[in-house]
Amino acid sequence: MRRVGEQPVLKGSPGEDGWSLDRRDLDVICFVLNEKDDQDQPTPLARAVIELLERLESCGGNLHKMMNGQGLLRHNVETACFGQWVPSKNRGAYLELQPSPKADFRVTGGIRPELFAAELFHVGTLNPEWDKLAGPCKWKHCGKYFLLKGNRRTAYCSRRCCQLSAASRCRQKCLQREHADKLQRAEEAARRWRTARTKDDWKAFVSKQEPDITPKFLTRAVNKGELKTPTKGQKP
Ligand SMILES: [Zn+2]
Repeated sequence: MRRVGEQPVLKGSPGEDGWSLDRRDLDVICFVLNEKDDQDQPTPLARAVIELLERLESCGGNLHKMMNGQGLLRHNVETACFGQWVPSKNRGAYLELQPSPKADFRVTGGIRPELFAAELFHVGTLNPEWDKLAGPCKWKHCGKYFLLKGNRRTAYCSRRCCQLSAASRCRQKCLQREHADKLQRAEEAARRWRTARTKDDWKAFVSKQEPDITPKFLTRAVNKGELKTPTKGQKP
């Protein structure tokens, strides 16, 4: 038999609506955070929870600071659940976490997102593994919330997202390098055009000299201020 001192003070409440106060609760919170509507946008409930997490983040993870002066929010979170005193079979008792009976938003059918979000937040912040909740995943096409597996904080929900992001950064760098190289070759060819014996305009001339550089590319580069329109016969 467990001694009183070893018994957790706060336990989850069994039952359909109850919270388990272990990782299963965090799985539920994660699931809610990642829920999307028909337009692939976060559902109203997901948005409400995301807003709370973002607020906490903007306070540097200082929950006390986050709640400071936030009367209504604090009230909603505070009263979302309560600890019911339950005697155990040994000398002690424990508190069982129960959704607040005042939280009529559960039974009236029309769940108010901010109130249910407050309940999730209440339960989450009591969870011993609350710090394991991470996200959104940094890969721009993912953005999922996830639970960290080890102690190391990672910005990506999976190895796959990390690899996709690295590949994308690499591709971008490659493209930037390629673009810079094209500009340099275009500039050199345009310089040659100034003194060249040709009837071609400068764009056609550059294009003939550097077949991968199209007149369209040159027009865009001039419009963006990356290249200057050369003048015939004039030294740079
Ligand atoms: Zn991801």
